[in-house]
Amino acid sequence: MTGSEQARASGKPHVVIVGGGISGLAAAFHLRNEPVRVTLFEASSRLGGKLLVSDVAGVAVDEGAESLYANRKKTTGLIKEAGLGEQIMSAGPVTASAIWTKGTIRHQPDRQFMGVPCDIDDLARSGVLSAEGLERAQQDLVLPSFDLEGDISVASFVGGRFGQEVVDRLVEPFLAGVFAGRASDLSFEATLTPLARASRDHISLADAAGSLVPHLKEGEKPPPVSVATLEGGFGTLPAAIVQQVLDAAPDTALRTGTPVRDLTRKGERWQLTVGPATDPEVIDADAVVIATPAGPTGSLLAGVPGTSAAVSALAEVPYSSVAMVTLAYPRTAFPGGLSGRGYAGYRVPAEEGKAVKEVTFTTVKWPHLAGDVEIVRCSLGRFGEEHLLQLDDAELVALATAELAEATGVTGVPVASRVSRWESALPQYNVGHTDRVRKIRETVAAQPGLAVCGAVYDGVGVGVCMMTSRRAVDQILPFAKKAAAASAVAAGV
Ligand SMILES: Cc1cc2nc3c(=O)[nH]c(=O)nc-3n(C[C@H](O)[C@H](O)[C@H](O)COP(=O)(O)OP(=O)(O)OC[C@H]3O[C@@H](n4cnc5c(N)ncnc54)[C@H](O)[C@@H]3O)c2cc1C
Repeated sequence: MTGSEQARASGKPHVVIVGGGISGLAAAFHLRNEPVRVTLFEASSRLGGKLLVSDVAGVAVDEGAESLYANRKKTTGLIKEAGLGEQIMSAGPVTASAIWTKGTIRHQPDRQFMGVPCDIDDLARSGVLSAEGLERAQQDLVLPSFDLEGDISVASFVGGRFGQEVVDRLVEPFLAGVFAGRASDLSFEATLTPLARASRDHISLADAAGSLVPHLKEGEKPPPVSVATLEGGFGTLPAAIVQQVLDAAPDTALRTGTPVRDLTRKGERWQLTVGPATDPEVIDADAVVIATPAGPTGSLLAGVPGTSAAVSALAEVPYSSVAMVTLAYPRTAFPGGLSGRGYAGYRVPAEEGKAVKEVTFTTVKWPHLAGDVEIVRCSLGRFGEEHLLQLDDAELVALATAELAEATGVTGVPVASRVSRWESALPQYNVGHTDRVRKIRETVAAQPGLAVCGAVYDGVGVGVCMMTSRRAVDQILPFAKKAAAASAVAAGV
């Protein structure tokens, strides 16, 4: 029996999920106790998308996403429901990133929100800015209010208040870590959303940022960022979700190596063409959740009349590609050790001309991984630097090793290394993103039984992706049930 025939035979509405990254898997998870039958199609040979863990020097280290905010109950709740509550590991006491600028690794200002400083004296103490840069940053306190009319880039808004050095040395390096993006392109509203909101109530951007972070007493250090991972790596989450889905709904089909090539409306239902172009299979569905990146989502919607506004909006979302070089060194290789430095890694402003944009001292950030070796993750590839991914593994390791040695004084060669390539890894939330997402959602909502979810929409973090899956499931469920009831009546059941 084909998947569609099985679904019909089961008498349950058939829901197809396209994409087996965390968003697609979370959609299957949210559907596991519903009276539907789910088939998930994943183009690649494995489930999990940007979540993957493997060993480096005998330590399980994530190749892609490694953490999520521990204080977001909705996402940690899903992890607990997936049976992984006991495996949640908090970060150690040191989570802050420093900045490698002007030849030295410098502490960031103690009080800052996503790189935006809250206090000019604190900013001055950090030594990150030049004297001229600092003088310009002080103007934030006296400049008149900027009225936010429509969307504007991070560089325009933050640079307008504080000057370009704050953008280049503090804010863009932060955004390069999250989006691998450029401040001149990224939307202030879509990437620094809480700050954009707070800036409507404050003239000074430092005051707006200050309203979002705790006050510190004289000499007090900021609390560590509340992030968590999983004991065997964040990349163990997909398998745990799969297990829960199959336990609760054993008739769920998870079909890897099966791209969805085409989507069309067929009366009240949906029809998908899946599998290799040489041997395609046609699948009927009562509802469809598309959990793929912008490119494939746009291609699938192109077959659905009435969705051209969404197709155009999706075509306007570019992607950056990232390479993650993971290095393992003997603990003695770092002069003075790694853990006593007071930071768990550093970011590198693009103006420094380095290939590596961000370094995480993994064994400092996650003390449960500390052992005989220090593990360091080096991330390369800002938006527009796709050429770096053309380098072979040995070249990438050599680049990362040399820059790490320059920054930290590490000596000798790593005892083990691993290169992970993430092509088209991160969607760019460029100026106009919020409008584009609204357009996509409105257009798709007009298609009964169709929904989209994933990193393209409300945030690239795993937690937010999983929330978009919940929303997509809530959107399609009533239609799936209605369509199945109608087809049962038509069949005289
Ligand atoms: C290096 C790196 C580090 C990161 N670190 C963090 C972090 O620490 N914390 C955090 O919260 N986030 C992090 N992120 C971001 C986060 O991992 C991603 O935004 C998130 O995992 C995206 O999940 P997704 O399911 O929406 O998309 P994806 O993971 O891209 O999954 C989409 C899936 O759809 C499949 N697909 C595509 N086309 C088709 C088709 N036609 N038919 C069937 N299947 C198809 C793809 O093969 C893929 O498996 C990181 C990202 C990267 C790249």
